[in-house]
Amino acid sequence: MADIQPDPAGPPASGPPDGHETARELSRAWREHEELIDSIDGIVWEADPSFRFTLVSKQAERLLGYPVQRWYEDPGFWVEHLHPDDREWAASYCREAAEQCLPHEFEYRMLAADGHVVWLRDLVTVLTGADGRPERLRGIMVDVTAQRGTKEHLERTVALLEATLESTADGVLVVGLDGRIRACNRRFHQIWGLDPAQVGARDAPLLREVQGKLKDPEAFMARVQALYDTPGEESFDIVELRDGRTLERYSLPQRQRGVITGRVWSFRDISARVRAEREREQLLRDAHEAIQVRDDFLSIASHELKTPLTPLRLNLQLLKQALESGQSVTPGRVDKALGQVRRLSALVNDLLDASCVGAGRMELQRMPMSLPEVVGEVFSDFRAASDAQHPLTYEGPEEDVLIQGDRGRLSQVLTNLLENALKYSPLGGAVRVSLTHSGGDAVVTVADSGIGIPKEEQAHLFERFFRARNAPVSGFGGLGLGLYICRDIIERHGGHIWVESELGHGSTFHVSLPELATRMQQEERV
Ligand code: ADP
Repeated sequence: MADIQPDPAGPPASGPPDGHETARELSRAWREHEELIDSIDGIVWEADPSFRFTLVSKQAERLLGYPVQRWYEDPGFWVEHLHPDDREWAASYCREAAEQCLPHEFEYRMLAADGHVVWLRDLVTVLTGADGRPERLRGIMVDVTAQRGTKEHLERTVALLEATLESTADGVLVVGLDGRIRACNRRFHQIWGLDPAQVGARDAPLLREVQGKLKDPEAFMARVQALYDTPGEESFDIVELRDGRTLERYSLPQRQRGVITGRVWSFRDISARVRAEREREQLLRDAHEAIQVRDDFLSIASHELKTPLTPLRLNLQLLKQALESGQSVTPGRVDKALGQVRRLSALVNDLLDASCVGAGRMELQRMPMSLPEVVGEVFSDFRAASDAQHPLTYEGPEEDVLIQGDRGRLSQVLTNLLENALKYSPLGGAVRVSLTHSGGDAVVTVADSGIGIPKEEQAHLFERFFRARNAPVSGFGGLGLGLYICRDIIERHGGHIWVESELGHGSTFHVSLPELATRMQQEERV
């Protein structure tokens, strides 16, 4: 039964004899009224505007564990038993609403007698007196602890899911079957370079936006459409972006209680991995190539060294026999042997020079020198030894051209170019040497009308061990080191070496070197 403060308007305890029946009726009605109030699943209450309670249903005892009497006796009972965090706001909220005679509804916590927290939803109406002022508050407090627990659990779960979604390395997008975007994390925006404010609520504008970033938008869209058409399908593929990045795309149906409700797309940026794989593959290819080059070089080098060695041994044996048998020794045979020794020592020198270049140890002895003099000397040596098949010409300036150079090394470069010009013109043809100078640079040119060099191989000509694919058909050997050494020598002089050539129509090699005046100006500036 509800404990009700003795009410002046309460049921009369007794009455006049003819009123017995009426009194009993009233008492019964009152009891029923109390039973009804007590059976309501909530604390039915009535209080004055300063929270002095005049009615509190029995449910109060069951819910909070305090005897109902305490609500009546202690004028501050309700406020004092509010949870400390809610005490201030809940009391003033109710007070203010009452002041304005507004019915109101609010949720707060109370501390039960055993210390546990009870969440109550309080629905309050305000009764006014004749003066229009609030006179009484009447309400019902409903226990919503279980709902609050469920709600808090739900909120915690959602927060956890959101945090998980945000902490994943993948860009995740969830689209419902109706094309609505259900969820999407920050990483998704980052990967696609999208402004979250511009990503709308539907997939169509989003798809339009990302298409501009793709290398192959048609294929991308076709895949999306195909997956939309088959909601149950799972898919994985690679997406390439126009900015060079590569993404892995996973797409899985989203199921809720076994029913497909949409699709989860996840994107992972694998550009770094792809780059590393490509680099590794390139390194592997380079390593294979290097091994191949080394093996080729070893076989070419042994062949090249052996070629002059065999006739040299033969010549020396013949010379020995001639000397032993007292025959006369012809100078021609000795010259041949010397020529073979020269060839051998040239090969060995190339090998030594190449290893110096590789280690960056090539050293030059530079001094002021006349370039026409060096070119003229090398040219004369070649002309003296040349045959009718290869007419040699030289054109140089009247005046002297001075450079700061290493005479021996520059002779070596010119010799190499002239040797090549003759070597790679097996059918003969003129070889023209020229020297010009202008704008502070002297340029030596060696042009032949030989086998030429394939266009696509010209860029590699000055690399170590490189021989153009048409070189062996000329019938002349070589280690592919001469031009590699030449380039190093010329670049150490501050110059350049380059080639112009057409397959089958000869080659022209150019060497440019800074003239002495220019070099001195350059050095002064430094
Ligand atoms: P080698 O002549 O010993 O092979 P080089 O370094 O001097 O080495 O030359 C490298 C390659 O350049 C040659 O193998 C040949 O394929 C090409 N080459 C050089 N000079 C000429 C030329 N004048 N005409 C055609 N090919 C040439």
